[in-house]
Amino acid sequence: MSRDFRDLIHVVPDFPKPGISFKDITPLLADGPAFADCIDRMATAVKAFGADMVAAPESRGFLFGVPVAMKLGIGFAPIRKKGKLPRKTRSITYALEYGTDTLFIHEDAVGPGQKVVVIDDVLATGGTMAACIGLVRDCGADVTGAAFLMELGFLDGRSKLGGVPVHALVAY
Ligand code: AMP
Repeated sequence: MSRDFRDLIHVVPDFPKPGISFKDITPLLADGPAFADCIDRMATAVKAFGADMVAAPESRGFLFGVPVAMKLGIGFAPIRKKGKLPRKTRSITYALEYGTDTLFIHEDAVGPGQKVVVIDDVLATGGTMAACIGLVRDCGADVTGAAFLMELGFLDGRSKLGGVPVHALVAY
């Protein structure tokens, strides 16, 4: 039977600011067999979404997106913050609690005919993942699913993802 990853996600109250219950995944990353099990289970979900490419936002999305892509033998497209990608990009600006943020993807990172699954560690309000989905679609690819280690269900991030099917290993 697979283990409950909640044992390896430390909940840190009031970090990085009062009222936020921060989910620290470093104990999971530090436990080799548990991390491998986590990647296996995520990869199973991503395969079921029919992915031929994974895309993920920096930086914690990379921790899960890259090993899942390698496990499935498919490609990985990084989604990055300003000033990191050297060639022609597409960008999207989205609202944060205070202000806005912008994410970028190389315009040829994914394209028409590709089935892309987007991955991140946490689905919270859904703003980050909605932006990632927008970028992949702007490049002409299909988004067939979104996979997360955990979903903070009370924030209803799913409702921001435009009907993209969601898989999360742990729900809070
Ligand atoms: P959101 O755009 O609100 O869905 O937030 C998603 C991003 O913020 C993810 O990339 C997470 O890494 C991070 N994040 C949001 N809320 C938390 C939390 N409570 N604990 C840890 N990381 C979080």
